[in-house]
Amino acid sequence: MQEIATKAPRALKPIKPLEILHEGVTNTLELVMGAIPDHELPIFKSFLKALKSSLEDIIAKARQGISLIGTHFAFPSELFYAFDCAPLCFEAISYLPSALFTEGAEPFYDLANSYGHPYHTCSAQKGVIGMALKDKFFDVDAIAVPTAPCDNTMASYSFFSEVKKVPTVVADMPTYHDKRGYNYFATELKNMVKKLGSILGQEPNFESMRKAVGHSSKAIEYLAEINDLRAAVPCPTESMLNPLGSCAQNFFAGRPEKENFYRDVRDVAKERVRKHEGPPDVNEKIRAFFPYMSIFFDVGMCEWMDRELGMVNVSDLFNYFFFDPIPPTASVDEMFDGLARQSMEYPMTRQSEGFVDYFLEDTVFLAKKFKADCAIFSTHIGCKQSVSVVQMIREVLRDELGIPMLAIELDIGDKRMTSAEVIKKKMEEFSKTLL
Ligand code: SF4
Repeated sequence: MQEIATKAPRALKPIKPLEILHEGVTNTLELVMGAIPDHELPIFKSFLKALKSSLEDIIAKARQGISLIGTHFAFPSELFYAFDCAPLCFEAISYLPSALFTEGAEPFYDLANSYGHPYHTCSAQKGVIGMALKDKFFDVDAIAVPTAPCDNTMASYSFFSEVKKVPTVVADMPTYHDKRGYNYFATELKNMVKKLGSILGQEPNFESMRKAVGHSSKAIEYLAEINDLRAAVPCPTESMLNPLGSCAQNFFAGRPEKENFYRDVRDVAKERVRKHEGPPDVNEKIRAFFPYMSIFFDVGMCEWMDRELGMVNVSDLFNYFFFDPIPPTASVDEMFDGLARQSMEYPMTRQSEGFVDYFLEDTVFLAKKFKADCAIFSTHIGCKQSVSVVQMIREVLRDELGIPMLAIELDIGDKRMTSAEVIKKKMEEFSKTLL
């Protein structure tokens, strides 16, 4: 990587959340590999291995003084591989402790709340705000984000630029998802790369970016295959693929771990469909589609749904891509065009940033594709725009497909708003109305 300016030696950035996550993931992986039979939870094991290896790479880079770039889940991280840096998805860093640790990310939400960040904002960013408020705990060299998909994103990231004074580059995402809009956003991404280059003191290397795009493109192909396989009855994948996949898509973006994880999932799903089997010990009675997010603060709830309730989460908004992979022969301009389109059509951004028609049409398409018997809408306190369409989603599913929907008010990442026990009770009662 060619440097365009001589940088003064600088202090290493504190990365405590990554070190804590790495320790937790290492212990969990050892436990899972040692205590769970080989044929059980292969997807969870593959996810933990990919997460451990990604964290080790990021931590090693940070300790060598390589720049850390904070970014948003719906932004194409592949772009950052044009530089010698380590991208970090902030939303995944908030939600990984929620999913993997008993204590969750709640102490960090509390720090953000006590600082004055409104309690009802999205916990996706609030966790990282709390981490950044702790002394010598977490910091990055720069941030690059889009103006999407929500006011929460914009208002929360300004904490880092205005209060923490982290150099922040913002790419303006247009409302219209058409050719003109995609072209405009591709130009925004090119400008962002230029600005980031001058912040980091580096020239972009588009061949490194191509390599990253290649890993993600393979993952997109595997995910398309997985989704066709998941339409089978019984569903060949555990419910927990949904929260794990939501993290894998952005935390592993541009990395070999993304390609490897989705290949493993595809292989598991293909073999089970070939044998007309679901996951071991799962007796599928009800297929539930989650029109919004799956619940992140308790991955164990997915196991409860599968094994105790016989209600399988066949998919959610995050685990289906409405875009194509970028071909390996794409020119640099074509890579930018492809990444602009992928970012604008990324799950949640596609449905939340534009007009509601996408959300309604995608919900009906996906519930039908996955042969859902019902839907469960996670009414996330932070997400004002999605909460405003719950009734419309309920009506469109009833009118178009004749299936009922349960809406549960909660915070996706904070178990104190609606506890796992209360959620389970609601699902249990709902399931009785379906059988
Ligand atoms: S869940 Fe809603 S509020 Fe949170 S990042 Fe997504 S769109 Fe924004």
